[in-house]
Amino acid sequence: MLRSQVMAPPSPPLERYRALLAATATATATAAPARLREPGGGDGEGALPGELELQAAWFAGGFGREFTTTDGRRARVVQFGHWNRSAGPDFVDAVVEIDGEARRGAIEMDLSARGWEAHGHADNPAYDRVALHLFFEPAAGARFFTRTASHREVPQVLLDARTLGDAPRLAEAEARAGRCSAPLAGMPDSDLESLLDGAARQRAARKGAAFTAYAEAHGRDRALFAGVAEALGYRRNRLPMRVLAGRLNLKEVRAKGGEGLLFGAAGFLDEPSYDDAPPETRDYLRSLWESWWKRRDDFDPSRAPHWTFSGSRPSNHPHRRLAALALFAARWPEWRELCWAQPFDARGVRSFAASLTHPYWDRHHTLKSKVAPRPEALVGSARATDLLANIVLPARLASQPELWPVYRQLPAGLGNQKLRRATARLFGRDADRARTLLKRLYAQQALLQIYADFCLADESDCEDCPFPEQLAQWGQ
Ligand code: SF4
Repeated sequence: MLRSQVMAPPSPPLERYRALLAATATATATAAPARLREPGGGDGEGALPGELELQAAWFAGGFGREFTTTDGRRARVVQFGHWNRSAGPDFVDAVVEIDGEARRGAIEMDLSARGWEAHGHADNPAYDRVALHLFFEPAAGARFFTRTASHREVPQVLLDARTLGDAPRLAEAEARAGRCSAPLAGMPDSDLESLLDGAARQRAARKGAAFTAYAEAHGRDRALFAGVAEALGYRRNRLPMRVLAGRLNLKEVRAKGGEGLLFGAAGFLDEPSYDDAPPETRDYLRSLWESWWKRRDDFDPSRAPHWTFSGSRPSNHPHRRLAALALFAARWPEWRELCWAQPFDARGVRSFAASLTHPYWDRHHTLKSKVAPRPEALVGSARATDLLANIVLPARLASQPELWPVYRQLPAGLGNQKLRRATARLFGRDADRARTLLKRLYAQQALLQIYADFCLADESDCEDCPFPEQLAQWGQ
């Protein structure tokens, strides 16, 4: 919610779904603290996000902007600054107020307090201007002071990754009918309908709140750009796309040569890719290099995002996803106008996305692939719906709840493994009903929300999950 917007009161189904969640809050609060995941670590049980994800959450305003330092002072982030793309602290040109006194400088984030020394920041003059040191695990034993090479003490803030709220305690739950599948099977259609409506509204509201936090930190355009990038990253490359959109300024991506900047900063323009490229690709690569070579020294290659190239269809290769992002940037004024149009035209948003074409990428899957026999859409209808459901509509619903019927009408998106697990657990005994319900995207989103809120928070094989008992009261 931007300050200029007026928050709409929650609808009755949303209020009731939140009441369900509140009933589980005590169990969650007494749960053992989750472990932090080391960079490059797996998605093990109980793991919370890795360092880059935590940086992304910080930059997006996900931790808020007001804190208490470890020595009891008030810290307020006035400006989040820039996400650093060269050597040095993680965020630069930030402004932080400590007990009301403004300090301009950098912000460094480590998983643990002692990371400051372990990574050599204490002796590195590049960290002299750090104004705030963030970490998630305090130093064991005696209090640890963060000091720069010039012996200045840096205020410290201990963050709690669990406040991000999207950090389930389990990575996944078994795909088999859960204890709630019986009461759900016996639930009247109208009650089930309002339960799913409440859960879907909860999911959209959380996405809307995340959008608003980003917009308040960096402006609405950058929030939309980051959201589009993340949605285009699909499942496996959401984080690298978001990192890239955060580290690059929308203005510079829109400027001449912006496409080369995107591909270069992504790490896709190294020498071997040119040597390996088919002859017809070299002209295109040359055009990208023309702008990239002037900027490449501003980027530390070790900060290039890590991409996942396997497990997705050739037409969803990260090279194509990035090309699509460059096209959104190139036609930004038109796209922005459609997203905030009054009255809202969902069909217009989808046709815009589907209309994006590129002379090279319409017929190539990667920078190394041969010409495809026929053109393929850069943003298909499923991805266009995803943009509406995950970014555009949640951002608007916070102040315009009357748009909810538009959300409710969105056609189902492509299924995924998480959705299949959620369906098996909640509707294991009622597959026909699930099939009918899941023709709409809102029902898919609702299932995913219930799965995240209850199944991934349950460590008792359904035994202690309060959801089945609470269902009995839903219709009362
Ligand atoms: S954990 Fe709870 S919500 Fe999930 S399947 Fe079991 S009873 Fe249902």
